Amino acid sequence: MNEPRAEHREGFLEDAETTHFGFRNVPLGDKQAMVDDVFHSVANRYDLMNDLMSGGLHRAWKNALVSAVNPPKGRAFSLLDLAGGTGDVAFRVLAAGGAATRATVVDINPDMLDVGHDRAAARGLMVSFVEGNAEALPFPDRSFDAVTIAFGIRNVPRIEAALGEAYRVLAIGGRFLCLEFSAVDVPGLDAIYDFYSFNVIPALGRMVTGDAEAYRYLVKSIRQFPRPESFAGMMRAAGLARVSFRPLTGGIVALHSGWRL
Ligand code: SAM
Repeated sequence: MNEPRAEHREGFLEDAETTHFGFRNVPLGDKQAMVDDVFHSVANRYDLMNDLMSGGLHRAWKNALVSAVNPPKGRAFSLLDLAGGTGDVAFRVLAAGGAATRATVVDINPDMLDVGHDRAAARGLMVSFVEGNAEALPFPDRSFDAVTIAFGIRNVPRIEAALGEAYRVLAIGGRFLCLEFSAVDVPGLDAIYDFYSFNVIPALGRMVTGDAEAYRYLVKSIRQFPRPESFAGMMRAAGLARVSFRPLTGGIVALHSGWRL
């Protein structure tokens, strides 16, 4: 069944002490454990599900992100991929960059990192996998040339804190790039997308991971994420400059960009 965006539903309330978990309002302090349960449950089938759910489109979206990162071939370059899970974005940046490109993946969920670690080992790739919270990063100021986050920011309870940390660890002149589901604004596509999201994806999730509820959460969390204009405002508030975004695939996803100048 189709469900409207949360801000259009009657009785929707949000205050400083609560946040969204899907369409539910939950205490801010409880959300992370709930998110962690979701990714614990799906970690082993996460990459397969990405291909099945998106018909492989997530690869094109991640490639657009990597093109924007544009790692140089001829000099050292350090990437931090936040909420990097099973390592997909880091692997793509390493493939696009030169021999002196280094990638660090931070994720709060050890199950996702374990999958990433095994995938990196199988490909012979050197990636540093670090267990940590995007809201409080274990790195010094100005230590990375680029900070990315793909389909991760909507899962982080305190988005402003994570943006502030991304800004803090970026080198002067460094770029922040965020790939996130967005607002479909193409007439016709929005109805198909809603039907697919609320009916097909949970059923696929049940078949492939045994957990329809995890995928219901993921679909609902997309509807709760701020519209791209609002998210751009949050990026500016964190200190990022030259903030912009680009809708991809009719607005199913947006690629957000900002610089530390
Ligand atoms: N970036 C990967 C990709 O595109 O395939 C994984 C995205 S997955 C949808 C979201 C990831 O965010 C999960 O691996 C989850 O553990 C991670 N995550 C959620 N909250 C986090 C937090 N506070 N700090 C770091 N990672 C977090």
